[in-house]
Amino acid sequence: LLVVDGLRKTFRLPGGGTLTAADRVSFTLPEGGSVGIVGESGSGKSTVARMLAGLERPDAGTVTVNGRDRHTARRGGRSRRERLARAREIQMVFQDPYVSLDPRLTAGQCLRTALRLHGHPAVEDRVRSLLDRVGLGAREADARPHELSGGQRQRLAIARALAVDPRILVLDEAVAALDVSIQAQILQLLAEIREDTGVALVFVGHDLAVVQHITDETVVMRRGTVVEQGPTDRVLRTPRHAYTRLLLSSVP
Ligand code: ATP
Ligand code: MG
Repeated sequence: LLVVDGLRKTFRLPGGGTLTAADRVSFTLPEGGSVGIVGESGSGKSTVARMLAGLERPDAGTVTVNGRDRHTARRGGRSRRERLARAREIQMVFQDPYVSLDPRLTAGQCLRTALRLHGHPAVEDRVRSLLDRVGLGAREADARPHELSGGQRQRLAIARALAVDPRILVLDEAVAALDVSIQAQILQLLAEIREDTGVALVFVGHDLAVVQHITDETVVMRRGTVVEQGPTDRVLRTPRHAYTRLLLSSVP
């Protein structure tokens, strides 16, 4: 489904130097699969996530979904239809749900807007089933983001991402700001959504303890490069790289 091959991103720093935030990052994600990207702060996880979602253009390497390169240059930019088609391939959920939520819209209005944008008739059944899908009810449907709890707000951001029926959800530290019991609920929710809809997950996090519950494969990043990757069980049981062992030593 998703093939990431040799991604590199170098930023120019204000002082004149450069910083390679990601280099030679490669992995694949099968239909309905789940891959985790872990590493300490600054290791380049979000940079990779943003390149997957098309928010950042790689300096080298490719991101291919079902054989289609997501970053091929188009003279004169892309048509609206093409942009929407790409958005349906990959949707992103951020640590801060406000990144994808309009603070002025109620949950129901938010989902209606997303559905309409993508040409779905914004039928009320579909809005209700999306809310239901993420465990929000009629009361939450009329609430604005700030009137929801942190966990509910993240549920709404997930519903907003699911509104366009994406093939892949990229979650960048999507549970990092929530307390542990709410984290567990959201992880459970994501596992159910994956099971029921077949959406594939790219789950970015710094906490291996969290990532292990929801991923089949794990990619360990350090200072922009991949130090180890493989089936999550294997990486946890017999880590091959000293850095992975170090990360694991903090897992209770
Ligand atoms: P965290 O766990 O804290 O979210 P991360 O692994 O997601 O960290 P990135 O956000 O990908 O790390 O950042 C990797 C490196 O690239 C950091 O050193 C960061 O300062 C740098 N960086 C990221 N985005 C930019 C940018 N737009 N301009 C300049 N440098 C950037
Ligand atoms: Mg990050």
